[in-house]
Amino acid sequence: MSASARIPPIAQPFVSDRAKKTLDLVEQFVETECIPAEPTFQAQLGEGKQRWTTNPAILETLKTKARQQGLWNMFLPKKHFSQGAGFTNLEYGLMAEYLGKSKLASEATNNAAPDTGNMEVLAKYGNDAQKQQWLAPLLDGKIRSAFLMTEPDVASSDATNIELNMRREGNEYILNGSKWWSSGAGDPRCSLYLVMGKSDAANPDPYRQQSVILVSADTPGITVHRMLSVYGYDDAPHGHGHISFENVRVPASNMVLGEGRGFEIIQGRLGPGRIHHAMRTIGAAEKALEWLIARINDDRKKTFGQNLAAHGVILEWVARSRIEIDAARLIVLNAAIKIDEGDAKSALKEIAQAKVLVPQTALTVIDRAVQAYGAAGVCQDTPLANLWAMIRTLRIADGPDEVHLQQMGRRENRTRKDAIIERLNWQRKEGERVLAANGLANPNPKSHL
Ligand SMILES: Cc1cc2nc3c(=O)[nH]c(=O)nc-3n(C[C@H](O)[C@H](O)[C@H](O)COP(=O)(O)OP(=O)(O)OC[C@H]3O[C@@H](n4cnc5c(N)ncnc54)[C@H](O)[C@@H]3O)c2cc1C
Repeated sequence: MSASARIPPIAQPFVSDRAKKTLDLVEQFVETECIPAEPTFQAQLGEGKQRWTTNPAILETLKTKARQQGLWNMFLPKKHFSQGAGFTNLEYGLMAEYLGKSKLASEATNNAAPDTGNMEVLAKYGNDAQKQQWLAPLLDGKIRSAFLMTEPDVASSDATNIELNMRREGNEYILNGSKWWSSGAGDPRCSLYLVMGKSDAANPDPYRQQSVILVSADTPGITVHRMLSVYGYDDAPHGHGHISFENVRVPASNMVLGEGRGFEIIQGRLGPGRIHHAMRTIGAAEKALEWLIARINDDRKKTFGQNLAAHGVILEWVARSRIEIDAARLIVLNAAIKIDEGDAKSALKEIAQAKVLVPQTALTVIDRAVQAYGAAGVCQDTPLANLWAMIRTLRIADGPDEVHLQQMGRRENRTRKDAIIERLNWQRKEGERVLAANGLANPNPKSHL
């Protein structure tokens, strides 16, 4: 069955014929071009000092093939941007699921984070000169970029803590401070940093103290100290950089949107991006389930005389994985539809639901697959160990689960409590009235509720 035929019925009416055709092409491209290219990508990665200076040539080959098929920049939603391929968030979300099955597919189609979020920032908030200088080559896949918010010395999940200093002097801003977890900064093509810093520490509104400025990666005073590993994986050539800024001079014209608008930018940046991550994660979970099914039917590896598939507990893993992935997918697609019908702000609850639920679901599914492979599941012979490490970070990156849960819980409680208490009180009193009208005594007269 093709990808378009597998779109959940609830989402079908919102998907155009053109998107369905592209979705089938994406699936085909990922399964027949990207996944088979992965061993070559690994083999072409540089070793030692070349680790962060070489780019596997196979990616450029894939990019050419993707462009020839029109599989390029599908992420920019048509409602808000003219520069993309003209799909809705829902339509691209469906495609992102398949991109999530290969670690090369997102970049091969120019839909890779953090460039996608950075391109959205430039398209939405950049001025003409900024768009020409940075957005055009990013859309063309010629350069890459990084988003520098998180800092080693402060708890960065509370972005008001960010303290890289941005001081205006004439026509320039001077930047001093440290950043880490700057994803993509290892790539030799990474030419642009979007840097968040404090430009007005004295502002009484803590949400107006921050700004985002565009910084060319080769500006004097910038030092990339090291690349951080994720459970031992270095994610080369992409990488996660630890970077310092010492008296880095940036033209004032590089300020995005205006001084003090940093929060507005980060909030605008993260909505659709979370849907992209969530749908790619659904794809990763599907991939893990496929590997699980392959292992449990491997006739060479029987336990106690039977295939693993003959053991009831293992079939239960398959069934539970199917249920959990399908349920999680609906949560994400619902959020995408909500964004399409309004905007990311009107879908805050739905986006947060997807952001929290999907990585946890995928981790459970991946873990079952790891278990089914035994020791093979934790080594490099399956994609499972790497998938687990990648997906685990999503419970922290873009804000930890706890922050989203706290905001969601607070909102749910605030917006619903009065109406709920009023209705329950009314029902209790009405119950007493109906009892009395029927000449009956209350069976629970001592209830305190
Ligand atoms: C693989 C990866 C890639 C990343 N890429 C980027 C990037 O490109 N650019 C970038 O700027 N950053 C990036 N990050 C950083 C990421 O966004 C931050 O790690 C995240 O926002 C959390 O900030 P922190 O690490 O400073 O944790 P802290 O803020 O120190 O929080 C630590 C822990 O405290 C707990 N906590 C926090 N708030 C609450 C609360 N309200 N209630 C209960 N518990 C709470 C949570 O469990 C949290 O994990 C990346 C991280 C990873 C792992």
